[in-house]
Amino acid sequence: AIPLVVAINTSLAARNGMLVRDRIAMEEARNLDAIIFDKTGTLTEGEHGVVGTATADSVDEADALRLAAAVERDSEHMIAGAIREAAAERGIDAPAADDFEAMKGRGVRATVESQEVYVGGPNLLEHLDRDAPANLRDFADKAGENARTVVYLVQEGELIAAFAMADVIREKSYRVVDALHDLDIEVAMLTGDARDVANAVADELGIDTVFAEVLPEDKYKKVQELQDQGKLVGMVGDGVNDAPALARADVGIAIGSGTDVAVQSADVILVQNNPMDVVRLVKLSKASYRKMQ
Ligand code: ADP
Ligand code: MG
Repeated sequence: AIPLVVAINTSLAARNGMLVRDRIAMEEARNLDAIIFDKTGTLTEGEHGVVGTATADSVDEADALRLAAAVERDSEHMIAGAIREAAAERGIDAPAADDFEAMKGRGVRATVESQEVYVGGPNLLEHLDRDAPANLRDFADKAGENARTVVYLVQEGELIAAFAMADVIREKSYRVVDALHDLDIEVAMLTGDARDVANAVADELGIDTVFAEVLPEDKYKKVQELQDQGKLVGMVGDGVNDAPALARADVGIAIGSGTDVAVQSADVILVQNNPMDVVRLVKLSKASYRKMQ
């Protein structure tokens, strides 16, 4: 009888926009102790328009944007799109860039007009062993308090500008956190973004556990960290970066359009980009397997 119940269960799931790749995970969903969400694009919209710029003394804002747009020319990251757009809006033409390199979870690097230029977040500054000058640090602190992502521009080893990006929390995220708490599930958030940005979003949503400034290759370790506490852990993500974490989780959930890699690493795929489907998934699992006993 069990296979029949499972079959009914998965077709019910499919009708609710959930594609089940692993039925055991579907059964385990009812017992989840904790669910980790990717921040950008999952709990937040991830739109990232440039809303503020700060520059080091003697550096012109338009010049900084021009350089940044050049380095970001070949990056597919949302941050890159926002910077290119900000430059275009001001009628700034980005010069050509050579030797482009994407540094996963850190930023990008390229040669522009014979100079080595980087754009990236706090993980990049750490990697380059650079501290921000006082005025850029103040700018970043203020932006972080307002949950804004900040990326820095480094030219020939000098940190010369910072850009603040707007990202907004998705309206549905509030209900998701409340509903999971009602089900006694711990809610965690995982991001490569700065700690203060992550904390601002987590405070706003009432999230229990925050993992910030995590490099893509380390994301799965945070899943493991909760598992080592004896918890059954779900992971919800959309990006290439999340694939190993999705694979490591007891229930890996890919959301939205998702990348191919994320989809292949997930146990369940939520077709509609609606985080409330995570709650529906847990409830469906509880309802189905209660009936079976
Ligand atoms: P998330 O964990 O929020 O999905 P990522 O792992 O994609 O984020 O990126 C983490 C951080 O790396 C970003 O917040 C940003 O600071 C930096 N970063 C990544 N890609 C870029 C890029 N193309 N330009 C600038 N910064 C970037
Ligand atoms: Mg991501």
